Amino acid sequence: MGRIFNANRIASMTTSIFATMSKMAFDYNATNLGQGFPDFDGPTWIMEAAFDAMKSGKNQYAPSPGIMSLRKAVKDYHKKYYDLDWNENEIVVTAGATEALYSTIQAFIEQGDEVVIFEPFYDSYLADIILAGGQPICVTLHKPNFDFVKEELEAAISKKTKMIILNTPHNPTGKLFSKEELEFIANLAIKNDLLVVSDEVYEFLTFDGATHIPIATIEGMKKRTITISSTGKTFGMTGWKIGYAIANELLSTAIQKVHQWTTFAVNTPGQHAMAHAISMLESYLPEFRKTYKEKRDIIYKELKKTNFKPHLPLGSYFIMVDLPDGKFNDDVDAATNLVREHGVATIPPSVFYLKSDEGKTMLRLCFAKQNETIIEGIAKMGKI
Ligand code: PMP
Ligand code: GLN
Repeated sequence: MGRIFNANRIASMTTSIFATMSKMAFDYNATNLGQGFPDFDGPTWIMEAAFDAMKSGKNQYAPSPGIMSLRKAVKDYHKKYYDLDWNENEIVVTAGATEALYSTIQAFIEQGDEVVIFEPFYDSYLADIILAGGQPICVTLHKPNFDFVKEELEAAISKKTKMIILNTPHNPTGKLFSKEELEFIANLAIKNDLLVVSDEVYEFLTFDGATHIPIATIEGMKKRTITISSTGKTFGMTGWKIGYAIANELLSTAIQKVHQWTTFAVNTPGQHAMAHAISMLESYLPEFRKTYKEKRDIIYKELKKTNFKPHLPLGSYFIMVDLPDGKFNDDVDAATNLVREHGVATIPPSVFYLKSDEGKTMLRLCFAKQNETIIEGIAKMGKI
């Protein structure tokens, strides 16, 4: 067959680094501190709620935007934790945050639109922007604190900019955007009449008293912000793929249109179980946070004993480390060597950058792993 059938817009797309590194972890029987998912199970009571839903006949299509009790549960926790008032029509339940991001970007970005993203970025932003025909414009979160330079953000905005994508708590750096940073971004969004997509999937994973601030809470931002989150992170069940987008009705209606023709609806029993899980957040969160804080402290302490220098994260379940001086050519060399020769899988973060070379000097590790797995993986890194 001489004919090339692939659409041009997928020409730059390769297998994701997460899938690549998980496959290598499997092939080399390595400790997997790469792909972001817990290697322990989520709560049994959530599984039981799903089974109860199945047994009581909740097995046919859900309404396309999501079952009412889940949308109500999302609405209620946004009121309780952030004092944000939404109505159920402003919430669209999606197949994970991944689909929420895809449907949102498809709904608003078209050929030639520019989208400002902070690098290192979560990889699906780039793919979604390209699939929509948009143009990604990167602003670097610079080492060591992963702050952005205000002038660089201002310079990234042009007449063609339509959207800024934000992720706080941030994957892969563990940064929490401060109120001052969010206000600066909000001012620019308002001044230039831009949409802001705020990916808050790690909203409840914050440490050391740091607070997560949704940008929608900043004055003037609620009507131009699309907030995205995922029950996969909060309840440690990434495989269930239940996420949502929240935005004022004009925007949520547009997102719902794409969602309708992408997945139509998300699996019904899982939605019932997650509606119940969200209603239990208050009693669930203290233990959840304690567990992850302990893991964050273990990985940091163990890394301090090695030649890799950790950047203490205030949120998410990731930690960035600097490569030891003079041992590797770059991050890809380090990640390849570690998985092949030392049996530990990590993520080389340079794939999350378009502009800066800073990613080549680091690795990302995931600490959503059993304590023994973390200790074992870092001990292997300690041999370098
Ligand atoms: N955004 C970020 C920042 C993530 O880290 C992830 C998954 N790790 C997602 C979105 C996708 O979430 P989901 O698995 O719910 O699709
Ligand atoms: N978000 C996860 C991570 O950052 C990976 C999810 C995926 O592989 N799609 O590792």
